[in-house]
Amino acid sequence: MLWSYAIKYECDRCQRHYELLQPLNTCPDCGGLLEIEYDMPAMKRDLSPSLFAGRERSLWRWHEFYPISEPGCVVTLGEGGTPLIKSVHAAKELGLSELYFKNDTLMPTGSFKDRGFSLAVSFAKQLGLTRGLTYSSGNAGSSFAAYASRAGIDATVLVEYLANPLKKALIAFYGAHTATLYFKSMDEITLMLEKAVKELGLYQFVNFINPVRHEAMKSYAYEIAEELGWCAPDVMVHPVGTGGGIWGAWKGYRELYELGWIKAKPRMVAVQPEATAPIPKAFQEGKPRADRHGDPTKTIAQSIAADSQIQGGERVLKAVYDSGGFAAAVSDEEIIEAMRLLGKDGICAEPASAAGLAAVRQAVREGTIRKDDRVVCVITGSGLKQAYLIQERIPESNLQVEASFEDLQRLLTSLWG
Ligand SMILES: *Cc1c(COP(=O)(O)O)cnc(C)c1O
Ligand SMILES: [Zn+2]
Repeated sequence: MLWSYAIKYECDRCQRHYELLQPLNTCPDCGGLLEIEYDMPAMKRDLSPSLFAGRERSLWRWHEFYPISEPGCVVTLGEGGTPLIKSVHAAKELGLSELYFKNDTLMPTGSFKDRGFSLAVSFAKQLGLTRGLTYSSGNAGSSFAAYASRAGIDATVLVEYLANPLKKALIAFYGAHTATLYFKSMDEITLMLEKAVKELGLYQFVNFINPVRHEAMKSYAYEIAEELGWCAPDVMVHPVGTGGGIWGAWKGYRELYELGWIKAKPRMVAVQPEATAPIPKAFQEGKPRADRHGDPTKTIAQSIAADSQIQGGERVLKAVYDSGGFAAAVSDEEIIEAMRLLGKDGICAEPASAAGLAAVRQAVREGTIRKDDRVVCVITGSGLKQAYLIQERIPESNLQVEASFEDLQRLLTSLWG
């Protein structure tokens, strides 16, 4: 039994292999994206679902599936292991018999990014790195800052100019250097970072350019399959920015399937805002790569407002096509409606996270999700980080009472009859 069964990096594009214990971002040879490979035959031989049952509920419950070989390098704040909440109200309103929310609003810094940064920062610590950089629409920056601070790694975060002021302040609060990042298209950011990897040897924590972050998102598959009695749901719904979340989860399900722990894989659904929807557009046209599309300033779903995808979004589209899933675009009004519906089910989600539920509603109407499908929406981030939106959009009650019994009685009669 090993603590980790990771064995090497492999390039998506040229299939060249690299030794794992070195700080690589993209392929040194061709610039392609790197994927971490595992010794699946050994995992099949050594591991079984029952092995995990008694362990703590956290991301690290599944350490054999990550590239960390030194337990002492783990940097953790108790991320992962979040509840899978069965919907009461949204399910009824949409007419679904089984709708679940994977509630990652409960993560240490309020978003699912904590999974990825717990793992990526642990990996960086194992390599002895002392500095790192990422860009962020808000949540990734907080997460990186929090974990890097704990690990003694000097973190720099380029914060998109569109990020709301609270999110930007939180990144500095958790201890990172911040600079506001201005750009016309996300393409420019990717180009700048790819060049910095090549010319400066800069180690980065941007999804996919960093080959470790999305490995942590495999935990969605492990956690959800375990909770459903080692069975995958029929449909997994992910809001997509870079696609690290959906790609990681898909990789996790493929591993479980290969190990023989689940009998079927879910259909993967990628959701983006109508105003800027490169993935749904490419899907509609049946293309393997996404072109630039839309305007990220025109949506409230800041965390998934990306007009272009890293390396054409090939991984995201592959997850969608290979799984028999689909991509959907939703409007801001549909997102607000979905936020309110989630609120009734006890979850305060940020707009990007509610986009998934908005897409499910569309898909049920169109028949691409059936009423008896078992559906899981990943609720990626807390609405409290965009609280002003809730204040603006939820009408304030104009009822008033003086602190007197008579006033209270009058109020209750008016409310309850
Ligand atoms: C980053 C983020 C996303 C998008 O995740 P990707 O892995 O980049 O696709 C979705 N929702 C929230 C709340 C986020 O912070
Ligand atoms: Zn390569």
